[in-house]
Amino acid sequence: MKYLVTGGSGFIGSHLVKLLLKDNKNYVTNIDKLTYASNNKLRELKNNKRYTFRKLDINNYKKVFRELNLFKPDIIFNLAAESHVDRSITNSRNFINSNIIGTFTLLQASQKYLLSLKKNKKTKFRFIQISTDEVYGSLRKNDKHFSEKSNFLPNSPYSASKASADHIVRAWYKTFKFPAITTHCSNNYGSYQNYEKFIPMIILNALNKKPITIYGTGKQLRDWIHVEDHVQALKLISEKGKIGETYNIGSNNLKKNIDLVKLICEYLNKISDNKNINYMDYITFVNDRPGHDFKYAINTSKIKKKLHWEAKIKFSSGLYDTINWYKENRLKGNK
Ligand code: NAD
Repeated sequence: MKYLVTGGSGFIGSHLVKLLLKDNKNYVTNIDKLTYASNNKLRELKNNKRYTFRKLDINNYKKVFRELNLFKPDIIFNLAAESHVDRSITNSRNFINSNIIGTFTLLQASQKYLLSLKKNKKTKFRFIQISTDEVYGSLRKNDKHFSEKSNFLPNSPYSASKASADHIVRAWYKTFKFPAITTHCSNNYGSYQNYEKFIPMIILNALNKKPITIYGTGKQLRDWIHVEDHVQALKLISEKGKIGETYNIGSNNLKKNIDLVKLICEYLNKISDNKNINYMDYITFVNDRPGHDFKYAINTSKIKKKLHWEAKIKFSSGLYDTINWYKENRLKGNK
C-alpha cells in the first residue's frame, strides 16, 4: 500500500509513519512543513527507499497536487495541524491557516487526484481526517461520555479549528461522495511529544528543577491513550472503517491532572539517585487557562463493536516507559 501522511514529523505522525513502514510492502510519503513541533524520530529512515520526505505546507495546492500525482497514494492520513491549545489562544491565525484552510486545500488537491484515478485504484482510496475529542467541548463531572453522535461544542480556538475542518471533510463526503473517514481521539502520551505538552512538561520541568505548573485547581479530567495504541487504531480504520463514518478512539483511562502530576513525581522520586529531592515540591498552581475544559471522556463502544479494536497498553507501564524515555533522551534539549 502507498500512504501519504501529512504532519508525519510530528508526535503522532512520526509514530504512524514508523508503524506503516513495518510492513515491507508499504511505501510512505510524509508531507510536513517542519514547525517547532516536529521531531527527529524519522531521521533513522533517511536511507529507507520506501520512505520519502517532502518539506511542504499543506496549503501549497500546486505542490501538494504534484506530490499526489507523483506518488499516487491509496490512503491519505491528514495529521498536519497546529495542536497546542495555549498557542491557539495567543496566535489563533496559524490554527485557522493550517487546520482549516490547510485541510480544505488538501481536500481539493486530493479530490482532483481521485478523479484522475482508474476505477480499481479509485475504489481503494481513503482520506482519513485525524481530529480530536476536544471538538465535543467539555463535560461536567457526572455527564455521560461523548459518543460519535454528540454535538460539536468547541471551546478553544484549537478545538474550533479542528471542528471546522471536520465539518468541511463531512461536506466533501456528503456533497462529492469523497471517501473520507474522521477520527476523534483523546489525549495522547508517549515518546517524541513536544516538551510544551502536559506530560513532557511535567517530566522535564521536574527533572530540571523548574516549577511544574498546573492550571487552576488541577481537578480537570483527561482521558489518556498511548500514542502506539492510537496509531494502531488509525491503521485499522484505514483498512476496515466505513466511508463517511466517524470513530472515537480512546482507552477509558480518566485521570485528574493533579493526580497525574503526583503519579509522575512519585515515580521520579522512586527512580532518583538523590533521595534528598522530592519532585512534588516543584508543583505550582497558576491561574486557570481561559475557556479551560473541565472534562473530556469518550465512549469507544463503536470502534470496539464495529472494528473489534481496543487499546492494549496499560497506563502505568506506558507512562513509566514514557518517563524513562524523556529522562534518557530529552534532558539535553534534543528534539
Ligand atoms: P504535533 O503538533 O506534534 O505535530 C503536528 C505536525 O504537523 C508537525 O510536525 C508540524 O510541523 C506539522 N504541520 C503543522 N502545520 C502544517 C502545515 N500547514 N503543513 C504541513 N505540516 C504542518 O501534533 P500531534 O500531537 O502529533 O497531533 C497530530 C494530529 O492529531 C493533529 O491534527 C491533532 O489535532 C490530532 N490529535 C492530537 C492529539 C494529542 O493528544 N496530541 C489527540 C487527538 C488528536
